[in-house]
Formats: sequence, C-alpha cells, structure tokens
Amino acid sequence: MTNATSTTEFAVTARNVTKSFGYYSVLKGIDLDIRYGEVTCILGPSGSGKSTLLRCMNHLERIDGGRLIVAGEFVGYRQKDGVLYEMRPNEIAKQRAEIGMVFQSFNLFPHMTVLQNIIEAPIHIRRMPRAQAVEIAQQLLKKVGLHHKANAFPPTLSGGQQQRVAIARALAMKPRVMLFDEPTSALDPELVGEVLSVMKDLASEGMTMVVVTHEMGFAREVADTVVFMDEGVIVEQGPPSSVFESPKSDRARSFFSKVL
Ligand code: ADP
Ligand code: MG
Repeated sequence: MTNATSTTEFAVTARNVTKSFGYYSVLKGIDLDIRYGEVTCILGPSGSGKSTLLRCMNHLERIDGGRLIVAGEFVGYRQKDGVLYEMRPNEIAKQRAEIGMVFQSFNLFPHMTVLQNIIEAPIHIRRMPRAQAVEIAQQLLKKVGLHHKANAFPPTLSGGQQQRVAIARALAMKPRVMLFDEPTSALDPELVGEVLSVMKDLASEGMTMVVVTHEMGFAREVADTVVFMDEGVIVEQGPPSSVFESPKSDRARSFFSKVL
C-alpha cells in the first residue's frame, strides 16, 4: 500500500476498514480500490453504511481499524519514518481540501450569497487572492448554469439550484476526488435531472467521483464501477452491466428487484 503505484493510480484505497458507533459495527472490513478518472456508484439499502464510508473518506468520521488512503494520503494521518501520526485540525482541513463533498441537504451558508459561498474556502483555506477566487467562482457558476444567480441568497433558490451551487462550491477547491452522498434524494422529482446532468458533465470531463445514490439509471449509464453494500460489507462490485444484469448474491438480487 505504501508503494508508488497505489498512491498514484488509485484515488481511494481501503483495506479492511472498520468503524463502530459504540458496540454497533457499521463498517465490517471494507476493501475497495477506486482509480482516478472513474465514477463509482455505491448502492445499497438504508443503514448499510454507505454514508459512513463516504464520511470516513473525508475524515468526517474516524476509522477504527484498517487502512484508508484517499488522494495519495492516509486520511487523517501523516506518515513519517514508517510511523503514522494523527493530524492536527489545520492539517486535516488542508487534506480535506483535496476531497470535495456534496451532501443530500446542500449545506450552503444561508446568510451568504451564492458567490460568497463559493469563494469562502478558496480564500480562507487555499489563501487564494479574492479576485482570482471570484473569477473561478464565476466560471463554475456558468458551468452549472447559474451565472445569473451569483448575488442571490441560497434560500431564494430551488433545491436543484442550491445543489448545483453546492457542486460549484466543492469544485472551487479543485479537489482530486468528489464525494456525493445522495445528492438528489432531497429534491422534487422534476429537479433531479438538472443535478444529474451537471454530474454527468463532470464525469465526462474525467473527474473522479464516488456517488452514493438510489438513481439506478444514473449508475447504469455513468458508473464505471457499481459497489453494492449491505450491513457494513461490500457484497458485490463490478461494472454496472454485470452487477445489475447478473448479480451473484441473493442480497443484491433482492435489492435490485425492488429498485430497478
Ligand atoms: P446508509 O448511508 O447506508 O443509510 P449510514 O452509514 O448512514 O447508512 O448508517 C449506518 C448505520 O450506522 C445506521 O444504523 C445508522 O443508524 C448508524 N449510524 C450512523 N451514524 C451514526 C452516529 N453518528 N452515531 C451512531 N450511529 C450512527
Ligand atoms: Mg446515507
């Protein structure tokens, strides 16, 4: 895992990752390799540990055991002379900047304009000059189709627009990996398409994306790899054609028969 290949080729490497909340074991030994430039969709029933796995990748949760390397670094730890040291909060913030995250509930700052939401982290964490941050923000707003909303406040926008702002905000940090946790689950059905369309564009540009979703159509069309989780383990993974068309396990078969 410490050899050069794993850190350059793979955006995410998980080896026997475990995580419990109290006595409740949520991740029971996750092994996963995600290549740069690929889209991985994580599917599975509610409570199977999908969000927890994503949150561990971004160090919003600490793993209890195993190894988790994202964008070439042990999440939350730095390695010196073969020993792992837990990072300080400022080091964690810097590391997290390499990993964009988009939540189901958008999590925009409601009292700041769309533009302010996007330039905040580049200025304060990346120490980017304001003018440059504004220019990048405007380009990103154009990309997600919201250049006319730069001065609007998030609560005045639709859910679909807010989620597109949240995607632009994450992209402003130029992350190496983008994590999405059910990005369309909180949206009215007619607004789902505009968010998925922005995500498809990102995928076609080669962004590395890990997407927890119930949008089977998106997974089938866009994912390079589909990962099916249940009860804290990865039950199956592979290209969408094989996982969807001929699932090997009863658990995956039964899940897909309900959602497809
Ligand atoms: P999923 O995203 O697949 O629905 P989660 O990762 O959110 O699943 O949750 C997996 C399990 O862990 C659930 O049973 C949930 O109740 C539990 N869980 C998640 N976060 C916490 C927490 N902070 N404290 C205690 N239990 C948690
Ligand atoms: Mg979840």
